[in-house]
Amino acid sequence: MTAACNRTDIQELTADELAAWLSRHGIEAYRRQQIFRWIYQRQADGFDAMTDIKRAIRRLLGDHFSITRLELLERAVSRDGSCKYLFRLKDGRCIESVLIPERSHHTLCISSQVGCAQGCRFCMTGATGLQRNLSMGEITAQIRDVQRDLQADQRLTNIVMMGMGEPMANYRQVVRAIGVMTDRDSGLGFSTRRVTVSTAGLVPAMLQLGRDTSVNLAVSLNAADNRTRSRLMPINRRYPMETLLDACRRYPLRHRRMITFEYILIQDVNDSPDDARRLATLLRPIRAKINLIPFNEHPGSAFKRPDPAAVQRFQEILQQRHYTAIVRHSKGRDIAAACGQLRASAGKNAACPARAIPCPP
Ligand code: SAH
Ligand code: SF4
Repeated sequence: MTAACNRTDIQELTADELAAWLSRHGIEAYRRQQIFRWIYQRQADGFDAMTDIKRAIRRLLGDHFSITRLELLERAVSRDGSCKYLFRLKDGRCIESVLIPERSHHTLCISSQVGCAQGCRFCMTGATGLQRNLSMGEITAQIRDVQRDLQADQRLTNIVMMGMGEPMANYRQVVRAIGVMTDRDSGLGFSTRRVTVSTAGLVPAMLQLGRDTSVNLAVSLNAADNRTRSRLMPINRRYPMETLLDACRRYPLRHRRMITFEYILIQDVNDSPDDARRLATLLRPIRAKINLIPFNEHPGSAFKRPDPAAVQRFQEILQQRHYTAIVRHSKGRDIAAACGQLRASAGKNAACPARAIPCPP
């Protein structure tokens, strides 16, 4: 084992933890900001780059800490403009992040776990079970590393935790990572309005998230009655819809914010006009907007995507009842067969990073 392996990756420390370490070593508090800025804003790969920090401190930092990158195994560009990054972690396990370039902004969809324990019937990540939680540093590194891969004039503007895994089942690391993401002064610098956490509905952790952070909340609802939802999402047996929706009603929403409800439309399972009307009634007490996602078909599942007319009818019923209901298509379907859950609308002319590997036609 090399010396580098014994050092802690400094990206595993929160601002407070690094401040405490510096204080224990008799180093001025303002150095914490300098170090964070070098890592998260200036993409430093080592302490020697931190030229405004005294050499003795740089050496001490280098003796204790490393600054590492995820290993990029593959970068594939989809015909719809989205780019899938396949990263290998230090233990050899792999995760995906998907960049969705849009006209005025770039959204990065990041993972929070390797696999997922929730076992939702429609989801390929769920089929593999949970392998492990990601650490705080592995979550934020997806953002830092993709940002470095972009062209100079491209910036990530939005982060969605909708990749692999259930963020609320990895609560501590997710909240620590959100701290760095939303540190405007010396961290990754995202406004809380531009960070969204998506959950299958782990109610206690979801309510805690509302107390601990002010990021946006998305809830994967996917059904308009308990019987269908329990069939699709086993978590519904633990936290049935009335419990989940009551928690959504009580969720501490910031001024002018809404909860996004994700609803995968599956043919003859949850796509009838009656389902749409029930959904509209259920969400009435909540400040809600709805993303309709036509099911992304994959070999492991017998479910079918509804025809476009059924999708449109479902959307119209919600719109007639004054909901913002947007149809979003899965992104990267030609490259991201294992990532069926990733989606959002991308501009057709959106540019991908220059060094991206194009997908074969
Ligand atoms: N575990 C979290 C976040 C990751 S899943 C959650 O469930 O919310 C992100 C989204 O992808 C969820 O809204 C989920 O419903 C959706 N999804 C999963 N598999 C899909 C598929 N085959 N087609 C379309 N959307 C899918
Ligand atoms: Fe896990 Fe979300 Fe997939 Fe369900 S939809 S199995 S919670 S990743």
